[in-house]
Amino acid sequence: MGDGLDFWSCYSQGRQVANVLCIHCGRNLPKNCSTKDHVPSKFLLSRPFPDNLATIRICSECNSGTSLDEEYFAAFLGMMLTSGEGEELHPNEPAIDSNFALQNVFEGALGIERSGGLVKCYIEPDLNRLHRVIEKNARGHWHLADRRRTQFLTTNVICCALESQPDEVWEKVMPPASLWSVIQKSRYRFHLELSEATIVRSVISDYLYTETHLMALGCAP
Ligand SMILES: [Zn+2]
Repeated sequence: MGDGLDFWSCYSQGRQVANVLCIHCGRNLPKNCSTKDHVPSKFLLSRPFPDNLATIRICSECNSGTSLDEEYFAAFLGMMLTSGEGEELHPNEPAIDSNFALQNVFEGALGIERSGGLVKCYIEPDLNRLHRVIEKNARGHWHLADRRRTQFLTTNVICCALESQPDEVWEKVMPPASLWSVIQKSRYRFHLELSEATIVRSVISDYLYTETHLMALGCAP
């Protein structure tokens, strides 16, 4: 079901079944026109995946619409978790399932600084692509926490490397470790701050900190 015709064909066949409101595009569609989406996206985790990985139903267009961004995200993460040749690898690097062809896109823009035996890599990623992946996961987390929340306005997305700030800064910014939900140790944890303007935080591969600010626009009837 990749194009509009398929969607309407599916829609007419599925009139009698329960509807699903896609939390990403806001379309209301029959359940048999929707697809399961893992929260968080499986590419952010390592095999074997957790048994109880949560899923939501979204439209197939939104599900497949971020796949190229997810490839880009995985390649970026793979790059940033990999040290230079012959140097010590980041402990999470071997498990990253990244797109090596896409990594070539980054290599031309890669800057390397060597200092005291350490290698630091710098890259200017396409933040819009990273943000789309982060936002998709954040919406999923909030929807899972409160199924009535089906429509969101994203007001801000932030991501940065943990190593970009000293521990003292993170201690002020981040909630205590005991309040985070660990989906997979050293790979993915998240925190929901449910307030007037919800904040969804995640830490990916003990490397990337993300923050998504969301406002609810509507609830499911
Ligand atoms: Zn959708």
